[in-house]
Order: sequence, then C-alpha cells, then structure tokens
Amino acid sequence: MSGSGPLGALSTSSQPAAPADASEPVRRVDCAVVGGGPAGLSAAVCLARMRRSVLVIDDRDGRSLWGQTNRNYLGFPNGIPAAEIRLAGRRQAARYGAKFLSGRVAAATHDDGSFRLRVEASAGDGHRETAGRVANVRRDEELGSSLGEETVIGPADIVARTAILATGVRDNFPRFLGWAQCVGKSLFWCIACDGYESTGKLVAVVGHDEDAAETALDLLDFTDRVTVVAGRPEGFDLPERRLADLRDNGIGAYPHAVAAYANADGLIEELVLDDPDQTRLSVEMVFAYRRPTPRNEVAIALGLELNELGHIVVNTEQHTNVPGLYAAGDVTSPHDHQISAAVHEGNQAACAANYFLYRPVQRAPDKEEC
Ligand SMILES: Cc1cc2nc3c(=O)[nH]c(=O)nc-3n(C[C@H](O)[C@H](O)[C@H](O)COP(=O)(O)OP(=O)(O)OC[C@H]3O[C@@H](n4cnc5c(N)ncnc54)[C@H](O)[C@@H]3O)c2cc1C
Repeated sequence: MSGSGPLGALSTSSQPAAPADASEPVRRVDCAVVGGGPAGLSAAVCLARMRRSVLVIDDRDGRSLWGQTNRNYLGFPNGIPAAEIRLAGRRQAARYGAKFLSGRVAAATHDDGSFRLRVEASAGDGHRETAGRVANVRRDEELGSSLGEETVIGPADIVARTAILATGVRDNFPRFLGWAQCVGKSLFWCIACDGYESTGKLVAVVGHDEDAAETALDLLDFTDRVTVVAGRPEGFDLPERRLADLRDNGIGAYPHAVAAYANADGLIEELVLDDPDQTRLSVEMVFAYRRPTPRNEVAIALGLELNELGHIVVNTEQHTNVPGLYAAGDVTSPHDHQISAAVHEGNQAACAANYFLYRPVQRAPDKEEC
C-alpha cells in the first residue's frame, strides 16, 4: 500500500490551510475516485478493503443528493433515501481507511503510468446551488468533516496510479419556483424508480417528444389518470399517429407550455397551462423526462472515448480506453440509471483497478489484464 503525503491548499474544517504553494508536495494515492455518489463510494469500499490507498474527491453536485427515496434497492423494505445511502457508504469506506477530499476535479492529465488531477474549490461556480436539497448537502458535509474530509482552499494536485471516474450526470428538470424541493418528492423522471408510487394517482408527463409519449403510455400500467403536456410553446414533436396513440389510450395531450407549477412543501398540486384559458390541471405526480447531461469534463480531459450522448464508453469490466482508468455509474450509460447498477459498477471498477495495481508476480504468466 503506498502512503499519502501532506498536501497544501487543503484544510479540514477545523484547521484552515495556507494558500496553494507550487513547491508543496502532491498527494500520491493508489487510486483516486472522482465522485462520491453510490458508484464512487462502492469503489472506495472495495479498494480500501484491498488495502489500497484511496482518495474520494467529490463536489456534492450529484443526483444522489436530491430528496428521493429508493424503494427498489435490495435490503430496504421500507425504502431508503439516496442521501442516506451516501452517508452510510461514506462511513463504510472510512472504516477501512478511505480518505475524502471536498472539491472539484477541474483538470486532469496522464503520463508515465499515473494520473494527475487538479482539484479546485467547488462552491460558488453557479452549479452547486441547483444540485441536491440543501439539507442533504449539509448533512453530507457534516459527516465528511467528522470523518476527516479535507477541503480544497486553492488548487491542489493529486497523483494517482489508477483512477475511477464516477462523476454521474446532471439532471435537467424544469425550473420553477420551488422546483428543487419537488425533485424526488413530486417531480420524477424514471418509471423503474417511481412508477409504482403513481398507482391510481393523477399524473402529468411534461415533455414534447417520443420519450414523453412512451413515459405516458408506460404509466398506464399504474394509473389510468395520465395527461401529457408539451411543456414548450412549439407544442409536440410527435407524428399525428403517435398523438392518436395517446388519445386512443385515454391520455389527454396538451400542446402548451406550462405557465406555473403550483407547489407547496415539495408537492406539485396543479399545472397552469400557457393557453388562452390558463387551463389548470390537478396533479399528484409529474414525470419530466429530459435527458440528463453526463458530467464528462474529466473524461474529456483524459482523452476517454465517449458515446454519441457523451457517456464514457466502458467494457463489461468498467475499463475505459486508457489503461489504469475506469468508469462507473450513471456517467457510463444513458440507461441503467439505478443505485444497484452504480454500486455494482463501482465495485467492478475497483476490482479492475486493484488488478492493475498488482505486482507482476501476482499475475499469472500470459494472463491479460482483467
Ligand atoms: C429524482 C430521482 C429519483 C431516483 N430514484 C431512484 C430509485 O428509486 N432507485 C434507483 O436505483 N435510482 C434512482 N435514481 C437514480 C440514482 O440516484 C442514480 O442512478 C445514482 O445516484 C447514480 O450514482 P452515481 O454515483 O453514478 O452518480 P451520482 O449519485 O450523481 O454521484 C456522482 C458524484 O460525482 C460528483 N462529481 C461529478 N463530477 C465531479 C468532479 N469533476 N469533481 C468532483 N466531484 C464530481 C458529484 O458531485 C456527485 O456527488 C433516481 C434519481 C433521481 C434524480
């Protein structure tokens, strides 16, 4: 296990650090995990238990900090909030020696078999306030600080023998007053996650395209009280025969923008349409499927192959096209956006990184990296 050295431009919450100094040594670790969501924490638990030095770098700007409760993740019959999974995962990783750094990986390079990550302070860049409910972010920070998490004050460099990118995606929910409180409570996107909870309820799908039509038709498996609202002034981008499919299945389709999402305490109660009558639709749940944006900035900096939607291309063992560099979780695919998939991929990426770190004698002669 390689050790870690002191690092400037960092502080624990109780101990402010001096500003960055280029002469200060960088921290060297066996594996840097970028992203402290379910995928990254799963990787950290596995690597720490392999007695590797592992540093989880996270800027608390991920979808596991919204207010949703996961009811399809095995082992929690009453459901568990995603934010709680993060807290438990962080405690578990810390127990085996994983270390944590709060900040954003803003630049990255690789050469001579190592990865150099430039970490910067993450607050105040305009993104963070939109990600996660404030209370979840605060609890995540409090736990981090109680576990000795360091915080980047000025830019700091991490040098890692391997790296795992578990950077997730950024959601593109409609923005309205109170929207962040509604995410995961009355505003959803995924039927596998939350379709069951719509059973018998008044549900509106907001979206103009085939994804919206499919979501509306799929919701009929749970409730017969479904409407679709285009959610933009241009109306639907659907052929007439698809609009007929909606009508024929009892789904009202409104080609209007939404003027207002009337909500209180995270619950959307009404959609006010931007039509001449200001039509009001009572709702209990809103599904707004808009493709999320993969957080692939670090992947791009490291020259990783991406698919046409910007997700990192990996093989079945989470290898990217760069040796020693792996990816896991939502950032790897437009599908499978589930905690179970993220945890599985994180674990798998960690096993692959651990194998990469083996001394030559540990590998069977003639065996390829796996
Ligand atoms: C409303 C909603 C409901 C959901 N319901 C369910 C459900 O019921 N069941 C289910 O299984 N799944 C559900 N999901 C999906 C689930 O939350 C995701 O699949 C899961 O969080 C993916 O984990 P991840 O670790 O890949 O990404 P994330 O949880 O997004 O974590 C990625 C982390 O990486 C950090 N990061 C990114 N880039 C950088 C960088 N450059 N530097 C430092 N840190 C960085 C982010 O801040 C973030 O903390 C739901 C999602 C939403 C939005």
